[in-house]
Amino acid sequence: MERYDIIIIGAGISGLSLAHYCAAGGLGTLVIEKSGRPGGTLHSHRFQEAGAGGFWIELGAHTCYNSYCNLLQIMEGCGILDRLTAREKVGFRFLSGNRLKSIPSQLNFAELLLSLPRILTVKKSGKSIEAYYSAIAGPGNFRRVLAPAFNAVVSQRADDFPADMLFKKRNRRRDIVKKFTLSGGLATITDAIASERGIVVATGKEAQAVGASGGSFTVATTDGACYESAFLALATPAPVAARLLRSGFPEVSGRLSRIGAVEVESIGVAVRKENVSIERVAGIIPAAEDGFYSVVSRDTVPHERYRGFTFHFRPGAADREARISRVCEVLGVQKRQLDYVIHSENLVPSLRVGHEGLISTIDDLIEGTRLLLTGNYFSGMAIEDCVIRSLKEFNRLSAL
Ligand SMILES: Cc1cc2nc3c(=O)[nH]c(=O)nc-3n(C[C@H](O)[C@H](O)[C@H](O)COP(=O)(O)OP(=O)(O)OC[C@H]3O[C@@H](n4cnc5c(N)ncnc54)[C@H](O)[C@@H]3O)c2cc1C
Repeated sequence: MERYDIIIIGAGISGLSLAHYCAAGGLGTLVIEKSGRPGGTLHSHRFQEAGAGGFWIELGAHTCYNSYCNLLQIMEGCGILDRLTAREKVGFRFLSGNRLKSIPSQLNFAELLLSLPRILTVKKSGKSIEAYYSAIAGPGNFRRVLAPAFNAVVSQRADDFPADMLFKKRNRRRDIVKKFTLSGGLATITDAIASERGIVVATGKEAQAVGASGGSFTVATTDGACYESAFLALATPAPVAARLLRSGFPEVSGRLSRIGAVEVESIGVAVRKENVSIERVAGIIPAAEDGFYSVVSRDTVPHERYRGFTFHFRPGAADREARISRVCEVLGVQKRQLDYVIHSENLVPSLRVGHEGLISTIDDLIEGTRLLLTGNYFSGMAIEDCVIRSLKEFNRLSAL
C-alpha cells in the first residue's frame, strides 16, 4: 500500500491550495481526484482543434480579484504571476424578453431611493439575501433585478442564502489589476499547483471508502487501489465528505449531511465572431423564471477568431436539446453555427442562515484530530474563501 504524510480527496482549488501548503511544509502529499483533470470548478476548456488552438472558455469560475491575497501568494510561489491577464472592462446585461438591456434600466429608482437609507440600520448578519436586499433596495427591485443577479452569482435560487456570505470586504493588492484571469484561463492556477514538487495528483480515481485506525488513515478508490496516510483531508462537496466519513466519523458526517448542494449543468459554446451579432458582454443575467442562471462570456479577453459563452442551467425538466435551443435563441445564432459545444457539471453548496453555527460545531468535532476539512461550504464560495479555509486547516495540522 502506498503511504503518504497526507492524502487530500478532491483536486479543486480547496484541495490543491491545501496541497500547496502541505508540500511547502515538507509533507509528502497525495491528492486523489475523481475526474480526469485537476481543478474542479476551475475548469478552463482549452480547444486543441485546428483553427481554434489557443482559444479557451471557462466552464466554471471566471474571475479573480486583487483582493485574493492568499491565492496571489500561492500564484507567486508557483511562478505564474507573469501569466496574469487583465479582464477588459465589458458590462453585464439583463435579458428581458430576449433583448439585452442595461441593469440600471430595470430598477425602480423611486423604490430604491426610499429603501436605500435602511442600509445604515439593517444588518447583513443573520439575514437571508432576500430579507437583507429587499430591505435596502425595495421588494420590487429585489424580485425583478437583484434576485436574478444573486442567482447568477451562486448558480442557484439565492433568496435563502446567508447575505453575509457574499461580497466580503478584503484588503486589495494595489500592484495587481483589480479583476484578472490568466493566459490559458483560471485552471492555469490549479494546473501549476498540481505540478509542484512534493505533490502527487492521481486523477481518474474516485475515493470510495475511508478508514481510520491505529493513528493512520486508509483511502480505497473505486479502481481497487488503497492508500495510507498520517493525515487525511476531505476537499469535496459536503455531501461527498458526509458519505465518506459515515463509518469513521459518524458525528461529523451527520453535521455535514445537513449542508445542501445543488447541481449546475454548464454548456459552453464557441462561435466564430462573424456569426454572433449580440453586443460584447461580460455576462448576461436572465429574469428569475428563465431556465438558466447566467451566461459568462469570453468577451473580457477577446480572441481574433472566436467568441465564447457558457450558460449555467438550473436543474430541471429541459433536456440538452432544449437547452442548446435556448443557447441559440439568446445568442441569435443557428445551431449549425455553434462551432464547438462543451458540457460540464458542478455541485455547488446551498447554504442557509445559521450556517456558521453548524460550521463551528463541525470545527469543534474535528479539533485535535488528524482529519482536515476544506471546501467552498465553510465561510463562502469565492476562490479566496476556499484558500483561506485551506490555510486555516494547514495551520491546525502544523500545530498538532
Ligand atoms: C458557475 C460558477 C462560477 C463561479 N465563478 C467564480 C468566480 O468567478 N470567482 C470566484 O472567486 N468564485 C467563483 N465560483 C466559486 C468557486 O469557483 C468555487 O466555490 C470553488 O472553485 C470550489 O472549489 P472546491 O475545491 O471547494 O470545490 P470543487 O471545485 O467542486 O472541487 C471538488 C473536487 O472534488 C472532486 N471529488 C468529488 N468527489 C470525489 C471523490 N469521491 N473522490 C475524489 N474526488 C472527488 C471533484 O471531482 C472536484 O474536482 C464559481 C462557482 C460556479 C459554480
